Amino acid sequence: MPFLEQYNFTHVINARGTFTPLGVSRSSKYICDAIADALSNYFVIDELQDIASKSISDFAGTEAATVTHCVASAITVSVAATITGTSQEAIASLPETKGMANHVIIPSCHCVNYGHSILQAIRISGAIPAIAGEGAHCSLEDIEQQIVSNNACCLLLVSSKLVKGKSLDLKEAVRIAHKYNVPAIIDGAAQDFRIKELIKTNADLVLVSAQKYLAAPTAGLVMGGIDLVKAVRAQDKGVGRGMKATKEALIGVLAAIQERDKLDLTEWRKLQQHKVNNFITRANTIAGLHARLEVDPTGLPFSRAHIRIDPKVSRLDARSLADNLKSGNPSIWVMDQNAMEAELSFELVQTTNDEIDLILKRLIELVVY
Ligand SMILES: *Cc1c(COP(=O)(O)O)cnc(C)c1O
Repeated sequence: MPFLEQYNFTHVINARGTFTPLGVSRSSKYICDAIADALSNYFVIDELQDIASKSISDFAGTEAATVTHCVASAITVSVAATITGTSQEAIASLPETKGMANHVIIPSCHCVNYGHSILQAIRISGAIPAIAGEGAHCSLEDIEQQIVSNNACCLLLVSSKLVKGKSLDLKEAVRIAHKYNVPAIIDGAAQDFRIKELIKTNADLVLVSAQKYLAAPTAGLVMGGIDLVKAVRAQDKGVGRGMKATKEALIGVLAAIQERDKLDLTEWRKLQQHKVNNFITRANTIAGLHARLEVDPTGLPFSRAHIRIDPKVSRLDARSLADNLKSGNPSIWVMDQNAMEAELSFELVQTTNDEIDLILKRLIELVVY
């Protein structure tokens, strides 16, 4: 019996995007084969890290790079690196930071929760978050006001579904941090398609998840200048011990970067566009549903299918529709953050044609009287 069939796992169809509680993404056969080879072999891990790091920095166009367990851990060890540098004594003492510059400036609108609060990822290193602005409102002036003394770094996020309020000009925010000699870190977790753009903000470190659209095993890519990257990697022998990259992650990242390097983005975009358009055309034949294309607001190179549910025509409203899709078999997960406004979105980047057929079949069953 195939391994996965030996257990009663829920059969999931993921139209919700790179969602951590669902296993984030699907790796290609090329990546899976590379990982399988890695698991049955020994490596000199430092050498494997060096090779993976080189391939990432070549890809990103940065001086250096390294791999951590994930971006949550990359945040912790990057912050730690800005506190300790490569001082072995300081690295060994974390999370005790008495007498060290340990304030991390973070805009209030970037205080997100991606499964836990990003403030906790900062605090694990021993740093103290210094929040600029209030709630959804943080201006460049608010950031400047928080840069007082004892600063370790400034942590910024790329705008996404998680980030509240008006988006901050990252390049300007980095410029302000640099005016006071404070290094800037950008958490761009799902933005692997935009790495080069994020590097152009002049941030000292850019952090990206390898398991999101890159579809590698779980890993965090840390890209930036050589000194700070060295200090990040040095945390492996300190507070970052439990956050280290595994051999299968390092090999998976290498394979994923190779694949991305070879990707014909224009062709890929066309394929995605075609898939979404097709879905929209078919969804619009279902009475009660109004489907349209939704361009990614953060600048990712693909669109989603956005569906408005007409409660007067549809058997279920958006909330019950999302709940029923999820509780069925297969369990279909969609973007339901705006269900209260009668809207659902479907991300189809990683969805197969068979899965799309199943989603549409289920929509008809649930919507049509
Ligand atoms: C996904 C995400 C994270 C967490 O990334 P992991 O690699 O799963 O730890 C952090 N920040 C943002 C903005 C994210 O989207």
